[in-house]
Amino acid sequence: MKTTKEPTERELDTFVSQNVDRCQTSLVCAILAQGYEANENNGMPTEHDIANYYVFKCPECGASQNEPFDSEPIDPKNESFATPMHYKCYECQAEFEKEPESEPQEIYEWWLCSDWLLEKLEARGEPVLHSDLGDWWGRTCSGQAISMDSVIKDIYISLHNS
Ligand SMILES: [Zn+2]
Repeated sequence: MKTTKEPTERELDTFVSQNVDRCQTSLVCAILAQGYEANENNGMPTEHDIANYYVFKCPECGASQNEPFDSEPIDPKNESFATPMHYKCYECQAEFEKEPESEPQEIYEWWLCSDWLLEKLEARGEPVLHSDLGDWWGRTCSGQAISMDSVIKDIYISLHNS
């Protein structure tokens, strides 16, 4: 069995400085504002170009996920389209008859990152804006070093323990 070594603060800082370039929140907000204002497609990106922008929130425990909640027919033997579905939260296992609504993630900062890191972030459900002007990571937390973000630590650990 492989043991997962906890990365040190220094290792994480180095990892971030190698893969995260700079914060361009004002720039990306300005670009997105152009997209919103346009009545016709002027080639500017809009929120529709943000991968993982919408998340599904569990009304019970507040856990969010990018995929719609797990759904299965109430009667597994009857798989017709008319079969009512129920939706189950991965986190608290609460079940719902109606699909929980999706809502946009709150993005506080936009960061220029390496393509490699962007791909890993997107695969982990982080918002990523793709556009002809560039690609950015939409960070949903703020006020702490990026090296402290749990998603960054996850990526670092999976890189060094695979
Ligand atoms: Zn839940």
